[in-house]
Amino acid sequence: MTDLTVRTLNALAKNISQDTVAALRGKLRGVVALPGEDGYDAARTIWNAMIDRRPGLVVRCLGAADVAHAVTFAREEKLLVAVRAGGHNIAGHAVCDGGLLIDLSLMKSVNVDPASETARVEPGATLADFDKEAQAFGLATPLGINSTTGVAGLTLGGGFGWLTRLHGLTIDNLLSARVVMADGSVRTASAREEPELFWALRGGGGNFGVVTSFEFALHPIGPEVYAGFVVYPSAQARQVLRAWRDFCGTAPDALSVWAVLRKAPPLPFLPESAHGSDVVIFPIVYAGDMEAGKRAAAPIERLGDPIAVALGPMPYAGFQGAFDPLLAAGGRNYWKTNNFDRLSDAAIDGVISAAAGLPGGECEIFVAQLGGAMARVPADATAFVGRDAHFIMNVHGRWSDPADDARVRDWARGAFSALAPHATGTGYVNFLTEDEGERVAASYAGNHPRLQALKRRFDPGNLFRMNLNIAPAASASTQSSP
Ligand SMILES: Cc1cc2nc3c(=O)[nH]c(=O)nc-3n(C[C@H](O)[C@H](O)[C@H](O)COP(=O)(O)OP(=O)(O)OC[C@H]3O[C@@H](n4cnc5c(N)ncnc54)[C@H](O)[C@@H]3O)c2cc1C
Repeated sequence: MTDLTVRTLNALAKNISQDTVAALRGKLRGVVALPGEDGYDAARTIWNAMIDRRPGLVVRCLGAADVAHAVTFAREEKLLVAVRAGGHNIAGHAVCDGGLLIDLSLMKSVNVDPASETARVEPGATLADFDKEAQAFGLATPLGINSTTGVAGLTLGGGFGWLTRLHGLTIDNLLSARVVMADGSVRTASAREEPELFWALRGGGGNFGVVTSFEFALHPIGPEVYAGFVVYPSAQARQVLRAWRDFCGTAPDALSVWAVLRKAPPLPFLPESAHGSDVVIFPIVYAGDMEAGKRAAAPIERLGDPIAVALGPMPYAGFQGAFDPLLAAGGRNYWKTNNFDRLSDAAIDGVISAAAGLPGGECEIFVAQLGGAMARVPADATAFVGRDAHFIMNVHGRWSDPADDARVRDWARGAFSALAPHATGTGYVNFLTEDEGERVAASYAGNHPRLQALKRRFDPGNLFRMNLNIAPAASASTQSSP
């Protein structure tokens, strides 16, 4: 039998014998999938169609023991390693060329304990998996706004969505995590056990180990919430965005109102005459009493003269998937992101002129309203530093024809650069693209040295480097703070 050619951590080609692969197979509950074998393509195919990589081998894990065997195998063979959970990350670090792919997507269990209002979640679970289980008990935790996103990557980068203003980031609700470390050991990190590791995991991405189980705090939500959309024509953009920005300063934590500038999709609540025209959409969620939500959201209907108002009681789990049709897997994507502590008039004008040049019907600019509970946590309490980001703006370049790659990418980069002078300089690591490694240090700002020291302690050989990488501190003289 022929040897398998794989890629090492140092980007060299290396042969591994079939006997060595067979020995690994023998240790697993899950399977090894080699190129051409069942499961190989499923594991390497991720949300962003720009990423088309072919790992040397895939370990499709079924539990922490499988992950530990895969990590040990990779370390001993000095292989490049990628870790894939939901496969949603725009940068595509979830898959490597030639190395070992640790595929967690089959580990999808979600166990809710309604008595303690907690959930244990495996890393292959999507937001839909989590919300559906938790909502069976009328519970939820803050997650993102596209239900096919993976819980694991979202959590490790911070995690924000409709409940963030009320209950904080996803990491603010993380109680503990089970982690396979670079040396193959399995540790539990929480406020009491391994607190430094726990600090680093909450925002530090996949730099510190492979998380095989998350424990979250849950909160009573829904099952119905007051939610929906108010839509204005782009001709009113300046007026409605300024009024929305002012409104955000006084909105209650239970209310989240985001702004999306794009071409109107053919949704049933929009008049046909508006389909394809430039619009400003305000998606709205009030996580509380229905009548209070109606009162709280009413000013958004009066920001200007709306084309459509579609607000009312909606199933929370359903609204968590409201953007799924616009953000389906398989498109080509290039995104840019900026954090804002405030939206000045000039920043709003910048957003409007970037949207005036939308290069296609799937492209959009998303501005998330944050603040609230998230902003009340000190910036050094967790690795996630951007607590002052009261607004996160994403320029979503999204298209299907490879011939448009450069055109859409240029638009996204131009919009980002034009808005950068108004932004804080940090960026949400879960939205950084593969070519933005140089933004990592700035994005962790004052927390970066401590993260580098912890990287040196927990992964000195930088085995986990297929991510927005935090390089290990160069010498032991950089100590982490207690
Ligand atoms: C359409 C869309 C909508 C989004 N909306 C939101 C949103 O509303 N809010 C928000 O906060 N984010 C949002 N995101 C960003 C999202 O949080 C990140 O893409 C996140 O990385 C996705 O996690 P995943 O598990 O699906 O990703 P993957 O691509 O599987 O993983 C991303 C990276 O995380 C690391 N990783 C994953 N799992 C583990 C693990 N178990 N242990 C160690 N490392 C691991 C690896 O480095 C991996 O490369 C959105 C992304 C997209 C594409």
